[in-house]
Amino acid sequence: MAGTARTVIIEEHGGPEALKLADWPVGEPGPGEVRIRHKACGLNFIDCYQRSGLYPMTLPHALGMEASGVIDAVGEGVAHLEVGDRAAYAAAPPGAYCEARVMPAAQVCRLPDAISFEEGAAMMLKGLTVQYLFHRTTPLQAGDTVLFHAAAGGVGLIACQWAKSEGIRLIGTAGSDEKCALAMEHGADACINYATEDWVAKVRELTDGKGVDVVMDSVGKATFEGSLDCLKPLGMMISFGNASGAVDAFNLGVLAQKGSLKVTRPTLFTHIADHGTCQSMAGMLFGKVSSGEVKIRIDQRFPLEDVAEAHRVLEARRTTGQTILTLE
Ligand code: NDP
Repeated sequence: MAGTARTVIIEEHGGPEALKLADWPVGEPGPGEVRIRHKACGLNFIDCYQRSGLYPMTLPHALGMEASGVIDAVGEGVAHLEVGDRAAYAAAPPGAYCEARVMPAAQVCRLPDAISFEEGAAMMLKGLTVQYLFHRTTPLQAGDTVLFHAAAGGVGLIACQWAKSEGIRLIGTAGSDEKCALAMEHGADACINYATEDWVAKVRELTDGKGVDVVMDSVGKATFEGSLDCLKPLGMMISFGNASGAVDAFNLGVLAQKGSLKVTRPTLFTHIADHGTCQSMAGMLFGKVSSGEVKIRIDQRFPLEDVAEAHRVLEARRTTGQTILTLE
C-alpha cells in the first residue's frame, strides 16, 4: 500500500485556517514500526497547542495524536501486532489525522472486539491520561476528594466515570449549567459552574472548609491560583494542561504558605514511553470500557476534511465529551 494518504498538515503555525489536507507519503514500516490504515481519528486539545505553536514543532508537520484502524504491514521485531489486527493508539509523533501512516509500534495496542473503532479513536489519549492521573501520579484511594476542572470535556467525562468506579469523590467544574448536569450524570459528586459561581468558595463549602486532596487542572492560566486555594494542607496540585493559556511563573514559597502543597506538571507521553507500561495502562483502560464502568461518549463527529471547523468548535468551548474525525 506504500504511496500517499490524505493527511492533515500545517506548513506554519496559526489558527484553524492553517490546517491543510495534503497527499502525504506513506512508506513501508521499518524495524519496530507498523503501518495502520485508519478507521477514525481522535481530536484532542493538544492538537490545538501544536497547531497554534504553543507547543512548537518542525514544519511542515502532520497533526493528530490518536486514532484507530487495522494493521496492514508489520516491521521486523514487532511481536505484539499482526497484519489484520484491530488497533488503536495515542502516540507521538503527531500525524494521526490521516487515512494511513507508518509509526512506532510500541504505543499501538490491540483493540478488544467489544470496543468499536470510533470508541478506540476517541478514548486512547484521554483515557490513558485519566489512567495515569488516577493511578500513576499521586496515591489516591476510595474516599479521597478530587477537584477536576473542565469536567464535561473529553478527558473530563472519562474522569468523572473513572472516579465513581473507584469510590473517589470528584467535584467537577464546567462552563455552563448544562455541562455541569452532564458531568453529574457521568458520576461527578458535584459540579460548579465556574463561569458564574465563586468556585473556590464553593469547593470550601462542599468540603466543610477542609479543601480537597488533589486538584487535576487542565485549564491552566485562568484557574491555577484558585486551584491552590482549594487544596488541603499537603495536597497535590496536578497541572496537566493549558486550555486557557500557559500558567504564569510563580513563587515556590506560595506552596509553603498555603500548607506545604505539592505541584506536578505531567504529560502522558512520559508515562507511555515504555512499551510494557503503555500496554498495561491500556489494558486497564480497556477493562474499564469493556465492563461498562466507563462509557465513551462521542458528541461530535466531523469528516476529516472539516478538521478546521472541529478545531474552531473545540477552542470555542462548544464541545462536550469526545470528538472524532471520520474517514469514508
Ligand atoms: P476538552 O474537551 O476538555 O476541551 C477543553 C475544555 O477546557 C473546554 O471545553 C472548556 O470547558 C475548558 N476551557 C476552560 N477555559 C478555556 C478556554 N479559555 N478556551 C478553551 N477551553 C477552555 O479537551 P480535551 O479533553 O482534549 O483535553 C482537556 C485538557 O487536558 C486540555 O487542556 C489538554 O491539553 C489536557 N490534556 C493533558 C494531557 C497531559 O498528559 N498533560 C493529556 C491529555 C489532555 P468549559 O467550557 O467547561 O470550561
